[in-house]
Amino acid sequence: MATIGFIGLGNMGGPMAANLVKAGHTVHGLDLSAEARARLEEAGGKAVESLAEAVSQADVVVTMLPAGTHVRKVYCGEDGVLAHARPGTLMIDSSTIDVDSARAVAAAADAAGMKMVDAPVSGGVAGAAGGTLTFMVGGPEAAFEAAKPYLDIMGKTIVHAGGAGNGQAAKICNNMILGISMIAVSEAFVLAERLGLDHQKLYDISSTASGQCWSLTSYCPVPGPVPASPANRDYQPGFAAGMMLKDLKLAQEAAHASGASTPLGAEATALYNLFCNAGEDGTDFSGIIRFLRGAREA
Ligand code: NAD
Repeated sequence: MATIGFIGLGNMGGPMAANLVKAGHTVHGLDLSAEARARLEEAGGKAVESLAEAVSQADVVVTMLPAGTHVRKVYCGEDGVLAHARPGTLMIDSSTIDVDSARAVAAAADAAGMKMVDAPVSGGVAGAAGGTLTFMVGGPEAAFEAAKPYLDIMGKTIVHAGGAGNGQAAKICNNMILGISMIAVSEAFVLAERLGLDHQKLYDISSTASGQCWSLTSYCPVPGPVPASPANRDYQPGFAAGMMLKDLKLAQEAAHASGASTPLGAEATALYNLFCNAGEDGTDFSGIIRFLRGAREA
């Protein structure tokens, strides 16, 4: 069994760390929040007070932090992970961050003699609690193979997407598809309403025709056709619009940096920005249909 330093015990990191404890590993967890540290202790882990304590004895370091700035600081800061971990330590960053930060931190880890993967997730808080996350992994083959047994405990689907940063690239490309397709499906339902076409009829036809996609058949933005979708519970998340906006912004940053043309990604970012600025950042992202309709009722 391994000793794991886990940094960032929030909504996602907390239950992920608890699953590593449940599997028999020793987890030394760090978070700025005393509440988050207490939850780890309740789950059977050991809460620590400094990065040095979290990583100096660790075989593996896992991070689950808000954004690229946090990840750069935690790994590369003067008193950071790379300064305190033993050479050869395996590092897994599961935060969703910009591709450039992921590649910069991976290069610094490599220079310090560490193995590192970026391994962002999809599946949300329920997936973190249930150990059913999907991990999109970027990094060298040997680091991927070393990380896989730990990712298998926290997730169900583990995909190696290529070299450093490619996990983040896969995550933002996928979520750009999701953001755009949710708007497309929502617009179609709004048009159908104006034309007197019943929600269920449009669903029955499009779900077996060329308009079929995940946003329609697994996460339908109107109540009724897909009972599990957040539309049936007043758009409680689920996946909050604020999180979608974060991922769309990361995709736009990457598109600008790489020169890719993503006009619909840009439009989806602008629409989710408007939606969030209207006070809806905590609403499920499929609630954007209410915004497109111009009225709050279904
Ligand atoms: P969160 O805000 O609940 O947790 C982040 C934690 O990091 C907080 O508890 C915070 O105190 C801690 N932290 C920040 N800086 C720190 C530092 N320097 N040292 C120690 N701890 C520090 O966020 P979350 O929902 O758990 O998301 C974490 C990451 O996972 C984000 O990148 C997010 O985009 C991604 N993600 C979240 C979801 C979701 O549904 N919540 C889904 C997929 C991916």
